[in-house]
Amino acid sequence: MVEEIKRERKNKLIDCFGRNIDYLRLSVTDRCDLKCVYCHPPHKINYLDRSEICSYWELLQVVKVASKLGIDKVRLTGGELFLRKDIIEFISSLHEIEELKEIVLTTNGTSLLPHLKRLKEIGIRRINISLDTLSEDLFYRITGSHRFFTVLEGIQRALEEGFMIKVNMVVLRGINETEITEFIKYFLKNSVEVRFIEFMPLCGPGWREDYFFSYEKMKEIIKKKFDIHPLLSSGVAQEFVLKDRNGLKGKIGIIAPVTRSFCSSCSRLRLSASGELRPCLFSRTKVELLPILRGNLSLREKEKMIREAFKEAVKMKPVSMSKDHDADDIYIRSLGG
Ligand code: SAM
Repeated sequence: MVEEIKRERKNKLIDCFGRNIDYLRLSVTDRCDLKCVYCHPPHKINYLDRSEICSYWELLQVVKVASKLGIDKVRLTGGELFLRKDIIEFISSLHEIEELKEIVLTTNGTSLLPHLKRLKEIGIRRINISLDTLSEDLFYRITGSHRFFTVLEGIQRALEEGFMIKVNMVVLRGINETEITEFIKYFLKNSVEVRFIEFMPLCGPGWREDYFFSYEKMKEIIKKKFDIHPLLSSGVAQEFVLKDRNGLKGKIGIIAPVTRSFCSSCSRLRLSASGELRPCLFSRTKVELLPILRGNLSLREKEKMIREAFKEAVKMKPVSMSKDHDADDIYIRSLGG
């Protein structure tokens, strides 16, 4: 029995706090076509050079090794994943890794439309789309882009094609918090689950305390228009079932990394486009995979070192996210949220 348990644990990533790490958020690029005020710092950004970005072959090796360690869910994110050439072929090759149970996407929706048909063919079913307003002008003010209706059309067509869509809104005081109930009404009618996210200090000098709007404040606004009941949630979002006075009902989530902790159920590691394996979004610790991937080693040696790197990264996972880091040195835009 002991041997059996040892074998079982050998091929799993269990951290020091007994959490089973089975979810990899993989950022395929640091480039994005939007300049969201909460993500893109006000100064010019030096994007990674192409040579610093993991190739698809390299990413595939990493995911193959990870899948043998119990990682069975991969979220592809960015930057903006659809900016990377041949991304559909890469997603398709991920689908050939039989241990992966779920491959899901997070996108800003600007280039979703032309890919929907192929995404459906290769088996993608769930897409999270970031949208912070239902106003074209405000969309431009938040993102610096005029493609509001392109994103909305992408959501609409994805629903028509049968994709399961979640919409993520980063709530910013004085900018879009007044839209919370309208957002719920609009998307509930289209059976889309909306999640409201607290603004996190992960955007360098772009961080603005005065934009912060807390979980409790979001709930206060929602309760004015809806009856809400919390659900037992295991993920990062505190989920609620809600219904309004006209019987409109559905589910929403609030992701509150700043005022609440969801770390006890953390099951994730992050891999940046440059091959940094990160145990925690708010932590500077990381294990660099690129030197292994590009080292003068046999494939077997690389696989062994990647396996060790994953175990190393899991050992580094903190019990919960530290809030004492200064915002200037961790950028969510290259880690993918
Ligand atoms: N470009 C894709 C997108 O927009 O969804 C993926 C990358 S983006 C970094 C992923 C998510 O991170 C977005 O959905 C956004 O909601 C969230 N995000 C970015 N910066 C954030 C911040 N400072 N605080 C909270 N959420 C943030």
